[in-house]
Amino acid sequence: TSSRKLVLLGESAVGKSSLVLQFVKGQFDDYRESTIGAAFLTQTVPIESGNFVKFEIWDTAGQERYKSLAPMYYRSAHAAVVVYDITSAASLVKARSWIAELQRQADPSIVVCLAGNKLDLAEAGQRQVSTAEAQKFADDEGLMFSEVSAKTAQGVEAMFKQIAERMPIDTAAA
Ligand code: GDP
Repeated sequence: TSSRKLVLLGESAVGKSSLVLQFVKGQFDDYRESTIGAAFLTQTVPIESGNFVKFEIWDTAGQERYKSLAPMYYRSAHAAVVVYDITSAASLVKARSWIAELQRQADPSIVVCLAGNKLDLAEAGQRQVSTAEAQKFADDEGLMFSEVSAKTAQGVEAMFKQIAERMPIDTAAA
């Protein structure tokens, strides 16, 4: 099993903590307070080769609300999930700025996934960001892309599994 540090970035309230909670515990809580977000959770994912990737997941625990995150938060990360909310065009603008910052400051080998969360709200007519627009941006920047719902769990496991498949495996440590 290889341990890989994964960070979540994105505007406040896009659902970063909810995605982690859904992925790690299979739970969703409408009324969860953002700041309760655990700083660090782990989850192990089986991959095609028969190996396992153990993610050490770093949530910002709401800190992005108060001050800019220190680059040390993501500098040593192997993977980053940059989250926006499909019902908020402004949150995609913020995601783009996070991606630019990662491209300047993170390790060049970092695997980055753009994640459009709250997909369940598309059916309610609340979508502000089209799939095509976000997909094109991700393609242009060479990023992975998923639309997900932390609420219904749609796409969540599949997204983390795809990221796990991209992690270099340290067979010596397996
Ligand atoms: P964070 O600040 O980015 O960590 O966001 P949170 O995980 O605290 O979520 C912010 C709010 O959005 C909370 O009220 C969540 O219940 C809600 N939320 C998160 N994910 C989803 C989702 O997939 N669908 C819907 N409808 N609401 C969500």
